[in-house]
Amino acid sequence: MCGIIGYIGKNNPNDILINGLYNLEYRGYDSSGIAICDNKNIEIIKSIGRVSNLEEKIKKESRLNASYGIAHTRWATNGEASLKNAHPHKVGRVTIVHNGIIENADILKENLIKKGYTFNSETDSEVVAALLDSYLKELDVLVAINKLTKSLVGSYAIGIIIDNYNGIYAIRKDSPLILGIGLNEYFLASDITAIIKYTNKYILLDEGEIAFLTYNDYKIYKNKKIITKEILIADNIDTVNEKKDYSHYMLKEIMEEPIVLQKLIKKYSNSINQEKLNLSDYKEIDIVACGSAMYAGFIGQNLFEEYANIKTNVYPASEYRYKNKIYNDNTLVILISQSGETADTIAAMREVKRLGLPTLAIVNNKDSTIAREADIKILTEAGVEVAVATTKAYILQVSVLALMAYITACKKNLLKESINYNDFEKVPILLKEVIENNNQYKNIAEELYKDERCFYIGRGIDYAMCMEASLKLKEVSYIHSEAYQAGELKHGSISLIEKNTKIISIITDKKLKEKTISNIKEVEARGAKVIIVTTKDLDEFEDHLKIVVPTTNKFMNSILVIATLQLLAYYVALKRNCDIDKPRNLAKSVTVE
Ligand code: GLU
Repeated sequence: MCGIIGYIGKNNPNDILINGLYNLEYRGYDSSGIAICDNKNIEIIKSIGRVSNLEEKIKKESRLNASYGIAHTRWATNGEASLKNAHPHKVGRVTIVHNGIIENADILKENLIKKGYTFNSETDSEVVAALLDSYLKELDVLVAINKLTKSLVGSYAIGIIIDNYNGIYAIRKDSPLILGIGLNEYFLASDITAIIKYTNKYILLDEGEIAFLTYNDYKIYKNKKIITKEILIADNIDTVNEKKDYSHYMLKEIMEEPIVLQKLIKKYSNSINQEKLNLSDYKEIDIVACGSAMYAGFIGQNLFEEYANIKTNVYPASEYRYKNKIYNDNTLVILISQSGETADTIAAMREVKRLGLPTLAIVNNKDSTIAREADIKILTEAGVEVAVATTKAYILQVSVLALMAYITACKKNLLKESINYNDFEKVPILLKEVIENNNQYKNIAEELYKDERCFYIGRGIDYAMCMEASLKLKEVSYIHSEAYQAGELKHGSISLIEKNTKIISIITDKKLKEKTISNIKEVEARGAKVIIVTTKDLDEFEDHLKIVVPTTNKFMNSILVIATLQLLAYYVALKRNCDIDKPRNLAKSVTVE
C-alpha cells in the first residue's frame, strides 16, 4: 500500500511527482505529501485526503525552484490519517517517504527518545528518519543506510533525501520499489504506471541493495560494492489511465472484461500453452490468496474437485502462513494475487518454498515479487486496474482456474460430456452481451440501494460466486452484505431475516437447484424479498425479480454471473453516491500484513 515516487533530472520535479502520485493514488489515499530540494533548501508540503488537495496546496504555497524530490500517498498503518502523520517525515538531516510497517518501531523510538530525539507524528516512518539521522552522526552515508536496514524489522520501501547530499537514496524489503531510467533523469516508483509517461526503462531494486540517484547517474550498491543490474523494458503497459467516457474506472474496467478474456482464451488455445495449465500430476492443491483472489480460489476449488478430481483446499494467506501445514505427496500450492505484492501471500509463498513444495502463481503484474519467486507463473494480463475494487483481474483469475480445471479434466479423460475449446472462445461474446444489458442491473439497484444489509445465498460453486458478489457490494456501496451457503442460513442467521430483507440467490448448478429453491421458500416465508440470478436453461422464476445470463459451459458460468453482480454493486454504489473507485479505508495493493 502507499505510493512512492521520486525524481531527479532536468525537469521540474513538482509536475512529475504530482502526476506520479495521481497514478499511484489507488495504492492509498489517506493523505499525500511532497519534499523538493534545490540542492540547498528543502520544502515539504503535505495535505490530507486526495492528491488533488495536495496539488492545490503546492500551487499556492510552493516557493522553491527545485530540481529533485520525493513524494508519497499514504494508507495509514501507524497513526490516524492526519496532516502530522502524512509523509514525508524530516528528522535532523533526513527526509523520508516510507511504504510498509516497521514492526520494531516502538523499541527503536524509546531508544531514540533517550538519545534526545522528539517526534511529531505517531508513525513508524518518522522513527526510521530519526534512526538514520542518528547513525549519520557517526557513520558515512552508505554505512549508515546499511546499518539502518539491519536495524529495521518489518517491510519497507523508502525514498530518502539527506541534507547536503544531492540525490535520492532508496532501499526496500518486502515492499515494491523500482528505479526508472530516463535520459539524464532518474525516477523512483512503487510501480511502473507512475513513471511510464516519462520512461519505460526500469530496474527492480532488491532487498539488500542501496540505490543512489543523482542528476547524471545512478548507482546501486550491494555489500558496499557497486553492482550492475539488468535494465528492463516495460512493454504493453497501457498508459490509458484515463476514464475516457466512463464515469468511473470500475465501470470502464468491467467493460474491458470481454477483450481481456478473449486475449486470455486465445493465448491458451494451442497445446503448448495448454500444457502449462495441466495439473494432472498433482494429487492435492492448496490455493492461498486474500480477498477477491481467494474467492476466485473458491471457484477454482469447486471446478478442480468436480471435474478434475483433485482435492483442493482454499486458505486466506494470513491464516495459512501460521497454520501447521499437513501435505500429501504431490501437493501443489497455488498463489493468487492481482498485484503480486500482497504481503501475506508473499510470506505464505516463502514459507511453502522453504518446505520444498512446488508453487504456481496466478498474477497480473509480471515483475512482482510473487511472479518472480514462484516456481511457475501464469500471468492474467488484465492490464492496469485502477479502481480499488477488482473486477477484470478477478474475472481473469477465475478464467485461468477454469481453464486449468478443463484442461486437466481433458488430460485425465474425466469429462462426461463433450466440451470443446470452442465453447470457451464463445464466452467473451456472451460476456459482452451480458454487461451491455445495463438496464436490468439498474432496476435491481433501485430495489437495493436504500437497504443497509442484504444476503447472497447459493450452494456449491454458486456459494463461491456469492462470496465475491457480496464482497463487491460491501466494498463499493458500504451495504452490510453477507454470503451464506443457502442450506446454512437456517442454522442461525435466518434470525436476521425480516420483512423486505433482500436476498440475492445464485442458481447455476442444476443438481443443487431444487435444494436452493427450498431455502428460498424458507426465507420468503419470513418476509424476505428474493432476487434470483440464474442461467437461461434453469430459469423458471417468472414471479421473481431476476437476472438471467446465457447458459455457457459449466466451467465459465461464474464469469457471466459475477460480471452482472459487479455491475449491480456498481449501480447500487452510484445510487448511494459512494466514492466508487476509491472506497473508504481501502487500498489496492495490500503490501502490509
Ligand atoms: N507505516 C507508515 C504509516 O503509517 C506507512 C504506511 C504506508 O505504507 O502508506 O505512515
